[in-house]
Amino acid sequence: MSTFRAYLVERGHDDRLAGSVQPVPTRRLPAAGVEVRVCFSSVNYKDALSAEGHPGVTRSYPHIPGIDATGIVTRSDAPQFRPGDRVIVTGFGFGMNHWGGFAEIARVPAAWVVPLPNGLSMWEAMALGTAGLTVALGIEMSIQNGLKPHCGPVLVTGASGGVGSLAVALFAHLGYHVIAATGKADSKDYLRALGAREVLPRNALLAETRKPLGSADFAGAFDTVGGDLLAHVLRSMRYRGVVAACGLAGGHDLSTTVYPFILRAVRLLGIDSAEAPLGHRVRLWRRLAGLWKPDHLSGIAHDIPLASVAHALSEIRSGNARGRCVVAIAPP
Ligand code: NDP
Repeated sequence: MSTFRAYLVERGHDDRLAGSVQPVPTRRLPAAGVEVRVCFSSVNYKDALSAEGHPGVTRSYPHIPGIDATGIVTRSDAPQFRPGDRVIVTGFGFGMNHWGGFAEIARVPAAWVVPLPNGLSMWEAMALGTAGLTVALGIEMSIQNGLKPHCGPVLVTGASGGVGSLAVALFAHLGYHVIAATGKADSKDYLRALGAREVLPRNALLAETRKPLGSADFAGAFDTVGGDLLAHVLRSMRYRGVVAACGLAGGHDLSTTVYPFILRAVRLLGIDSAEAPLGHRVRLWRRLAGLWKPDHLSGIAHDIPLASVAHALSEIRSGNARGRCVVAIAPP
């Protein structure tokens, strides 16, 4: 192919960034060891930041966003991959400062490529995507820090979002009592169907007292929101509670006191999926293909064509997206 279709973000004459689906010459692809015919990608919050020029995500344009892709290897300089292999590419620089998955072809270093594990289809891998890997990392770390189902309820914030929906589904699948906090009044039935036992309106949590410590409601928490909501979560943890923090959908500031840590021994775990080492990812993807595969993937994820990526990016940026959005680029 001398050209391939991609969602390319470029700087216009007015210096503004704009994205569109267009043919891109194949020679402009980065030189890298493994070439993948992309079958599916998915839409993540970070893709919206990349497409709007957030300098902490993407510094140079024209750029193809898309931090997730799954597809079939067409060429490989690395002995561990051969043409025809089905693979997953997520994280590291993919879709950030390296052209990403909103494209029919991606070229990436072999060190970023995970073989698609048995038990997972390419569509399922993208229904999970970076969001699923992040949830798996957060749950694994929470368990390592002592959070077991019998410890008590686990709060998930931003519960109707991509990461939040998967956190609700996976914690519930593993037997935890999940309490979902959401800003979307119409998502109650959706979250209950994923396994949430209780659904709380986000504003009710934010309106709670600002005392350094509140009622000790939660044994665990998975926070995708940050800001005031994370501060409230920390105040509301039980003794030795475990909080996994991965996101900033509600803000990157965190105003809190040391009391949750020194009086309740609360553990705050930082979760980063982008730089998780390859071997760890391979193990977690295998787990997500097996015992940790959430029950409701087809209810969490919906498909869009490449042509609808711009709309999906604006929905996720405004906090209106629900669940996960798989981009069907060239299904096999
Ligand atoms: P989504 O937009 O799908 O989900 C975010 C959810 O947060 C929304 O659906 C909404 O859920 C809630 N929300 C949105 N805006 C606000 C607001 N202003 N105040 C409070 N809550 C809000 O994004 P993703 O699920 O893809 O990502 C969630 C976060 O996790 C992002 O910050 C992303 O950057 C981060 N992330 C981090 C990773 C890591 O490795 N650390 C990997 C992947 C994502 P509701 O209406 O239900 O409250």
